[in-house]
Amino acid sequence: MGKAFDIRLAQLAGAGVVASAPEAVERANQTAPNLTSGTFYLETFGCQMNEHDSEKVAGVLLSRGYKQVESVDSADVILYNTCSIREKAAQKVFSRLGEWRPVAVAAGLQTGNASPRASVPQAAANRQPIIGVLGCVAQQEGEEIFKRAPWVSLVCGSASYRKLPQLIAQLEAGHRRVTGLNTDTDETFETEITRRDNPWRAYLTIIEGCDKACSYCVVPFTRGPERSRTSDSILSEVRQLADAGYTEVQLLGQTVNSYADPSRKLRFSDLLVAVADVPGIRRVRFTTSHPRDFTKDIVDAINSVPAICEHVHLPVQSGSTKVLTAMART
Ligand code: SF4
Repeated sequence: MGKAFDIRLAQLAGAGVVASAPEAVERANQTAPNLTSGTFYLETFGCQMNEHDSEKVAGVLLSRGYKQVESVDSADVILYNTCSIREKAAQKVFSRLGEWRPVAVAAGLQTGNASPRASVPQAAANRQPIIGVLGCVAQQEGEEIFKRAPWVSLVCGSASYRKLPQLIAQLEAGHRRVTGLNTDTDETFETEITRRDNPWRAYLTIIEGCDKACSYCVVPFTRGPERSRTSDSILSEVRQLADAGYTEVQLLGQTVNSYADPSRKLRFSDLLVAVADVPGIRRVRFTTSHPRDFTKDIVDAINSVPAICEHVHLPVQSGSTKVLTAMART
């Protein structure tokens, strides 16, 4: 469901943020356009991966000087981080975008024939914020979104979130529309600053995308092929999290247990043990697992290390071989 993040900029230097702090902000400043005094509103639909992506998007924008606000009324940039797994979630996004039709009409934009809705806030109706679509609907629909909602000016998939400040800067410089839709990348998304919303439990993406091809699923198309993050990079972030006061880490991936360390140092089960071994970390969870890759060494790790929670999210999908075959579940 939609979720508005609150803004606590002071936490940029404190426990709510990883790699906190002045050095990280400084690093981000050196690689991105000039700092801004703009504001952004971010609403998230869908799964934990999307929620964590939004934490990273917020971190990227906060590090560029943007302030996060809780209402579209006061936002210069309005971002919807979308989900296309369930049709209802995708419909909700387009419904949300439809609320901006009256603003677009007032600005003289070509908006098609559908009737306008009156629910857009008055303050927002008097100006022209940048409206952007992120996430799976962005990746799946691409530039079609511009046709369906011509007042949208930014469409960006999850593999391109690091480019968001540059994309927004292009819009502010006068570009009408910008996209970041490349999934052909080995780059696993890592940001200098992640704006985490929970003070104790931290999500951490260790693998992006999916190489399976279940017949009903869009993830391989919207998130691209599997790319794992190095175990050194993951453990470094876990140590930072522990230093910042987090006690629980939840490792994320569409098929998290298909993790394949690019440096070939650790299997997934070894990684679980190594994360649990970081001083200060008391609980380790992971989601979502694929039955095919749920090997005995993972069970052994759960069994032998108390900090690895006895909690497994394992979507078996069906008990029928016929149905599983139709689903192309290997
Ligand atoms: S394994 Fe999961 S993410 Fe990958 S295609 Fe199948 S359902 Fe989708």
